Amino acid sequence: MTADFRSDTITRPTPAMLEQMLGAKVGDDVFGDDPTVNALEEKVARLFGMEAALFTASGTMANQLAIKCQTQPGEEVICDELSHVYLYEAGGIAANAGCSVRLLHGDRGRITADMVKSAMKTEDIHFAMPTLVSLENTMNKGGGAIYNFEEIKKISSLCQQNGLKLHLDGARLFNALVETNETPEDYGQVFDSISVCLSKGLGCPVGSLLIGSKYLIKKARKQRKTWGGGWRQAGILAAAGIYALDYHVERLKEDHRRAKELGEILKPLPFVKSVYPIETNIVIFELQDSILATDFVRAFEKIGIKTVTFGKHLVRFVTHLEITDDHLSIAEKALKN
Ligand SMILES: *Cc1c(COP(=O)(O)O)cnc(C)c1O
Repeated sequence: MTADFRSDTITRPTPAMLEQMLGAKVGDDVFGDDPTVNALEEKVARLFGMEAALFTASGTMANQLAIKCQTQPGEEVICDELSHVYLYEAGGIAANAGCSVRLLHGDRGRITADMVKSAMKTEDIHFAMPTLVSLENTMNKGGGAIYNFEEIKKISSLCQQNGLKLHLDGARLFNALVETNETPEDYGQVFDSISVCLSKGLGCPVGSLLIGSKYLIKKARKQRKTWGGGWRQAGILAAAGIYALDYHVERLKEDHRRAKELGEILKPLPFVKSVYPIETNIVIFELQDSILATDFVRAFEKIGIKTVTFGKHLVRFVTHLEITDDHLSIAEKALKN
């Protein structure tokens, strides 16, 4: 038996999800004719109390559309240095939007209103004009850290007062939502755009959504076409999304419980220097200085435990829909040996 902790993206559709996909009514989404895509977009827009949503092939595409459609070339995007939009989207901010980036150093990837404020000085003719702030919740590279919603509200007012747009990379927003008291509508009120992934913890094979105003989504739909992202009978995939939103949100708590258990297993081990605080489904730990993460990952791969490196001495485990308590026991035995 192997245990694959590399990412929550590796999950395959469950039999019940597949059944819903097979039964989906489909049409040509480029013509706006796919009833299941339309139903998913309406469901998610309504959930967040926002005007419209767009179903995309990936979270990267949703984020990049948000950035491209809310900036002009030569402007600046403000985000944390650990942000997915900056680190893991293959230079997309520069390549797609022609923008530069102002990187801030937050607490495990979470920035504050004060940090944003001090990054907004624009009077000097030399500076690029910042027009978009991008936050990430939960914060992947920060070990699945959850933002304090009060801080988000402060950043949102600051952006509004200064005419900046505010985007949320919410690839794992549902992981934050099941652990806190906020609702999707609370988030809809403070962001201009939100991306959510269906193919992470929610367990869909493919898909993300960009949510925002009718104006933004119309613009993004056009841009998605420019990027070759207009698709046809995508309702098969949208059906998985509808299923996941109905049945796979609450269960994220189980992933979080297993992640915390994994953390407790790791903490006392002699080769582990420290474990990041565990708030959701991501476990990042630091190995002792003498051990390279690449060596650790290779050694564990040989005995059937798959993980990824997250820095020279950092390793990431992610719990998800296919990780059971049995997998946890296997990992425990392997780690203790
Ligand atoms: C996975 C992820 C994305 C999107 O990734 P895709 O693989 O393009 O769907 C965006 N942001 C964060 C924080 C992610 O973890």
